[in-house]
Amino acid sequence: MSRLVMKFGGTSVADIDRIRNVALHVKREVDAGHEIAVVVSAMSGATDQLVRWCEQSLKRRHLFDAREYDAVVASGEQVTAGLLAIALQDLDVNARSWQGWQLPIETSGAHGSARILDVDGESLVRRFKERGEVAVIAGFQGLNPETGRITTLGRGGSDTSAVAIAAAICADRCDIYTDVDGVYTTDPRVVPRAKRLERIAFEEMLELASLGAKVMQVRSVELGMVHNVRIFVRSSFDPPDKIDPHGNPPGTLICDEGEIMEQQTVTGIAFSRDEAQISVRQVLDKPGVAAALFGPLAEANINVDMIVQNVSSDGKTTDITFTVPAADYQRALDVIANAKREIGYARLDGATDVAKISVIGIGMRSHAGVAAQAFKALAERSINIRAITTSEIKFSLLIDAAFTELAVRTLHSLYGLDKAA
Ligand code: ADP
Ligand code: ASP
Ligand code: MG
Repeated sequence: MSRLVMKFGGTSVADIDRIRNVALHVKREVDAGHEIAVVVSAMSGATDQLVRWCEQSLKRRHLFDAREYDAVVASGEQVTAGLLAIALQDLDVNARSWQGWQLPIETSGAHGSARILDVDGESLVRRFKERGEVAVIAGFQGLNPETGRITTLGRGGSDTSAVAIAAAICADRCDIYTDVDGVYTTDPRVVPRAKRLERIAFEEMLELASLGAKVMQVRSVELGMVHNVRIFVRSSFDPPDKIDPHGNPPGTLICDEGEIMEQQTVTGIAFSRDEAQISVRQVLDKPGVAAALFGPLAEANINVDMIVQNVSSDGKTTDITFTVPAADYQRALDVIANAKREIGYARLDGATDVAKISVIGIGMRSHAGVAAQAFKALAERSINIRAITTSEIKFSLLIDAAFTELAVRTLHSLYGLDKAA
């Protein structure tokens, strides 16, 4: 007997037929004798709709109240948890739904992007033992114990709920059921020749997720790494009755680096169009300027990513270029304009039609020249690189958004990631 967490994302619970299909997946594992906690997302599109309603209800943006936003957006998961419990009962599976506040899943008070602090796993385990009951838990939401209010964990947060619950109940595995059958070398919807990875190291998955691959929320991977949760990404669209619960279904195991036998230099490619570029022109080339520029941005909670500072040609002034999340672009320009006197610059330029392409692989630690190959391949396609950053296991390139797909496909072939035609 194993103890499993089964998480189902939005497309897997998009309508009643799919919820009934999910119930069959759960029943299969229950019938195999496993103890099961299920975590569900809202129906596909439901959270987007709830967010839109919040936006439409508020004309005076400065009055935005994140506590009420959370009260609204957490409701999508409440519906699917209840519906799945009903569908399970209809199959004679003993099931009960749980909201984040009922378990409870305790979080910080950062409404809209709260961090999980504690999950009461003991009462779930007790109910497995005493009642043989499946727990169906609403993902994405928790409780701020100081105020007693509902919080949410940030978009895609049900992955994090699932991994946190798996850690709390010492689950043997956390299965992430989604609309693709694993983690691929890049988004298979953009590059049909992407290959499914049998295994990927936590560190690589962390980079892939934080650089744009939305298949797992970044914090879920962090938690999995810290608590050593075995995470298995697989498809909910595989017919439930065709799967052997004791077999090896298709999917990707996210695990420790040491468990991966054959290591490629490059494991995957991520991309993100949610970037904006800002160039501060002709700042004085003297100590303290970077602090005057990036200090106020940090205070405004704006994440600065790629930074390029040119070497001054006249010894007096230089340009600094960097990226921020596209959602913070206008705010970043305002913050810099307000600090113009302290920074001292001639002009502010920006662009939102940019994309960041990132190449990831722990094999890069021991291979030189990996990035240089990419520069050459992109140059041959006349793709201009606006900025570059590198770290031990990845490098990122900022390019014009219009070339995103071409660049991803080019690099995917370059590093030998295409599956055989
Ligand atoms: P869910 O609703 O199940 O949480 P998401 O939409 O959040 O699912 O994540 C699954 C999607 O992630 C896939 O449909 C796929 O388009 C996208 N994706 C991006 N990069 C990758 C990748 N490297 N491997 C697999 N899927 C990826
Ligand atoms: N329903 C939430 C969202 O759409 C959380 C999730 O699906 O993981 O972001
Ligand atoms: Mg998701």
